[in-house]
Amino acid sequence: MKLVLPLRQHVGAPCTPVVQVGDEVKRGQLIAKPAGLGANIHASANGKIVEINENEIAIEAVGEINMDDYVRLTSEDHLSLIEEAGIVGAGGAGFPAHVKFKAKLEGGYILANAAECEPLLAHNMHLLENEPELVVRGIKYVMEITGATHGYIAIKPKHQKAMISVAKACKNVEGVEVKFLSDMYPAGDERVIVRELLGVELPLGALPSEANAIISNVETLKNVTYAIEKKMPVITKDITVGGRVAKPSVYREVPLGMEIKHYIDQSGGYVEPHGEIVLGGPFTGKHGEESARIVKTLGGILVAVPFPEDHRKFGMIECECGAQKERLTELAEAMGGTVVASVKCKRMEEINGRFRCTLPGICPGQAEKVLELKKQGAEAIIVGTCED
Ligand code: SF4
Repeated sequence: MKLVLPLRQHVGAPCTPVVQVGDEVKRGQLIAKPAGLGANIHASANGKIVEINENEIAIEAVGEINMDDYVRLTSEDHLSLIEEAGIVGAGGAGFPAHVKFKAKLEGGYILANAAECEPLLAHNMHLLENEPELVVRGIKYVMEITGATHGYIAIKPKHQKAMISVAKACKNVEGVEVKFLSDMYPAGDERVIVRELLGVELPLGALPSEANAIISNVETLKNVTYAIEKKMPVITKDITVGGRVAKPSVYREVPLGMEIKHYIDQSGGYVEPHGEIVLGGPFTGKHGEESARIVKTLGGILVAVPFPEDHRKFGMIECECGAQKERLTELAEAMGGTVVASVKCKRMEEINGRFRCTLPGICPGQAEKVLELKKQGAEAIIVGTCED
């Protein structure tokens, strides 16, 4: 079995390999280090390095993977363990956790993002239903590191089982409690979480640190607990396989570098007719191939229905929180259509060269934008996401 580990699984530059073709490696062994902003990459199986190029390292794995068999981290303090473990935002952002957790938040907040906002995804809820204490302990560790005094787990009440399980897990844990998010997309957006939990309206482009807070996905916090307690680097990922597969499933702790087709097969294979593979969630995911690999930021492997034939002229409404222009154009063209006009939701404002939403999730009516697109020749509208 060949595992392929991309050298860029994080925000920042690709890592630099520290192994050579022909080297024998052990599961958990460091194989690539950041060159600037980034995070360490470790072998996700015992085996031999069979290929290295500018984008990835391939390992020919030997033997079965034993979950307790890995090279332990050696750093002494908690923040160094997080850095050594190569933890990045597992919700998809991929920002290196040790950089984020360097912030000093005296009296501030660690907000665990359990929104799992994208439809079909279920691996975060599976974690919270079954091992909530891993996340609660991760929050406590990050509170200690940053000096924060409050830990909030942000969850939608519709996830009743996970909510009850997590509430039990933090019952006697000082400073950690459950808080509720409304059931809408994009409730997991950082500015929405800060607004709903802390009552602070962050300015456009501002980070949660301006509200004395850090937001971290629940799986990232689980990885913090593993790094500190088990001295374990990030060598696995929780994923959801859904859509047109025979048995939509959640898989916990699969080895990084595995081919995604393996998990489509494990899920009973395709339900025919099937369409494209989407990596990530339905709103913000990207087109993927069967040969793509499990990486630190991948949460969903979704199989879509085939594209309908639609040869009309499309108008596009862009929204910060959903699919962006490139992806919407790809979808319109895959149906056989053409994009003839594009407008932005009226809540989008430019800040530092990027358009951002002024009130995520509190969406205006889009009638005037639809009329604008019609005037420009649009016969149909394609939109990433909108509550309207
Ligand atoms: S207000 Fe507009 S830009 Fe903001 S989330 Fe809603 S549709 Fe998207």
